[in-house]
Amino acid sequence: MAGEPQADCLFCKIVSGEVPATVVRETDTTVAFRDINPQAPTHILVIPKVHYPDAASLAMAEPQITADILREAGVVAAEEKIDGTGFRVVFNTGSGAGQTVFHAHAHVLGGRGLNWPPG
Ligand code: IMP
Repeated sequence: MAGEPQADCLFCKIVSGEVPATVVRETDTTVAFRDINPQAPTHILVIPKVHYPDAASLAMAEPQITADILREAGVVAAEEKIDGTGFRVVFNTGSGAGQTVFHAHAHVLGGRGLNWPPG
């Protein structure tokens, strides 16, 4: 059923606690944890507890939870003190855009200069 945990999903296992992660924040609907392979001094992933394969499908089914993720991205940025200099929120969507884990997630990146356009 849509949104249900998937047995083969790494981020569902982080939500359940089966796979450990460095969790920095948790709400009723979201979990935020440090990326295992950081691309910036601060690199945190904000994910919904429900399983959808990407941000677009999450937004269609669960607009409030999508908004929760964006709110949490801002809260995490403030807690990490990267909001003053600027930070980036990225939803890689599809393998051609670099998505490797097919459970919706926002990357929150900051703590260094960030070039535009991204690679
Ligand atoms: P994507 O490439 O946009 O799908 O992002 C997936 C992210 O998950 C990558 O930045 C990975 O480094 C990160 N990642 C993969 N496995 C783990 C883990 O076990 N803990 C934390 N981050 C992970």
